[in-house]
Amino acid sequence: QVKDKGRDAVEFFNEDMADQVSRQLTMEGDLHRAIETQQFELYFQPKVDTETNRIVGAEALIRWHHPSDGMVSPAVFIPVLETSGQIIDVGNWVIEQACVKLRDWFDRGLWDKDMILSVNISPRQFRHQGFVDDVCQILEDVQIPRGVLSMEITEGVVIQGVEETISTMKSLSVLGVSFSLDDFGTGYSSISYLKRLPVATLKIDQSFVRDIPEDRSDRVLVETIVAMARLLGLNVVAEGVETREQLDLLRQYGCHQYQGFYISPPVPEAEFLKLLSESQNRVEDEEMNLGSS
Ligand code: C2E
Ligand code: MG
Ligand code: MG
Ligand code: MG
Repeated sequence: QVKDKGRDAVEFFNEDMADQVSRQLTMEGDLHRAIETQQFELYFQPKVDTETNRIVGAEALIRWHHPSDGMVSPAVFIPVLETSGQIIDVGNWVIEQACVKLRDWFDRGLWDKDMILSVNISPRQFRHQGFVDDVCQILEDVQIPRGVLSMEITEGVVIQGVEETISTMKSLSVLGVSFSLDDFGTGYSSISYLKRLPVATLKIDQSFVRDIPEDRSDRVLVETIVAMARLLGLNVVAEGVETREQLDLLRQYGCHQYQGFYISPPVPEAEFLKLLSESQNRVEDEEMNLGSS
């Protein structure tokens, strides 16, 4: 009986693997066509200042409109792009598209020099030999002010080689690009990296933020991360803020900025620009009221 079970388990495993391989290949083919036929789109999620409630930046997040499956989550297809190597082309598309949007918004007076748009960079893309040259080329083709573009990297990037990571980051810093450490706290030894990496911003992962109203240890963790970031002179952003209670606590801890459904999910460009102009008008109204009172 034990033997039977063992054999079944092996067959099951094989079927599973075959299934996985075939799914990966189908998706790779679909993704190949997706690049050519422009099925990708950038969505934008506002980053808001906890003190002023004003939009001070955004994160660009890729969306894939699959012709028959509808919208596919990046959590599903980014890993496939990573495995196949297609992340290099798609990743460059994301950076270029972000720069094109920034340039347009800037020319139309919608974007200030002190606002930052961030793009996510996956480990394989970051470690790719031609990465710095590719970014350099994009910044040459699409001129944007220094400092308005930032890149979100995870510990997955750093773990592959700290020295190499630092050197790539420094080359890109020279071009006016800044860095955030994304999903902070979910990896292994974040704290030892923090001292050495030239990052400007630390993003607290949403898994820590979610339960702060109910869970005392999460509150302690988040408050401690915020305090540490501030002492290190880093900008700190909370991810996944969905409620007023979460926001109140983050404000109390001194977290600089937040993102989350409480303000807005990631949205298409037109919707994002509407949110942005509402935010700017609201601030102008407040300033006028202050002036007249
Ligand atoms: P991430 O960079 O940590 O992005 C945050 C994710 O949390 C996004 O999921 C966002 O839609 C979601 N989110 C934002 N606010 C809330 C909230 O209040 N509640 C909840 N439950 N979720 C919230 P999304 O867009 O599905 O992206 C998932 C991941 O895929 C990203 O995690 C990032 O690692 C990756 N990704 C997305 N776009 C790109 C891209 O252009 N390039 C690369 N390399 N990776 C990308
Ligand atoms: Mg991110
Ligand atoms: Mg994140
Ligand atoms: Mg994440």
